Parts: sequence; C-alpha cells; structure tokens
Amino acid sequence: MSKDTKNKKSEHKLPLPMKKRRGKPCYFCENHLEELDYKDLALVQRFQSPRGKILPRRQSNCCAKHQRKVAQAIKRARYMALLPYVVEQ
Ligand SMILES: [Zn+2]
Repeated sequence: MSKDTKNKKSEHKLPLPMKKRRGKPCYFCENHLEELDYKDLALVQRFQSPRGKILPRRQSNCCAKHQRKVAQAIKRARYMALLPYVVEQ
C-alpha cells in the first residue's frame, strides 16, 4: 500500500560559503568614484593586461557594477583609438 517514499537522498549539505571578500575591495567603491571616464587613460589602463586585454574580475578586483563600467570605458577608448585593441609583441 503506502510504502514510505524512499528518501534516501543522503544530503551532505555543506554550508555554502558566504561571499568571502578576499583581497582588496573594488577600486571605485573604495574611492567613492561613480563614473569612469574613458579619456582618463592612466586609470583605464590599470585594468588592462600588457597585451591590451581587459582584466577579468578576479584580477581587477572590481565589483560587477564597476567591472561593467571599466569594460565599457576600455571599449570606448579603443574605438576612439586612445587604446590599442591588441598589443603585438
Ligand atoms: Zn565597485
């Protein structure tokens, strides 16, 4: 008849690690900078690799919001020929 439903899913629920903010916080949040100007090359270039690539978030330490702004600024600067698309070596 009504066999108890097998509930043998052994749930080894590991507690989800809370967002560990390791390392430095976002540069822009830290310095309370809201906008990033693509003409500010000294700043924009900090978020580029030597080959001209946009640094990933794990390296740039930016929060999602500011990483988007950084990426947009770099792309704008590239389009305006202020930054190279590729750095050939
Ligand atoms: Zn931020």
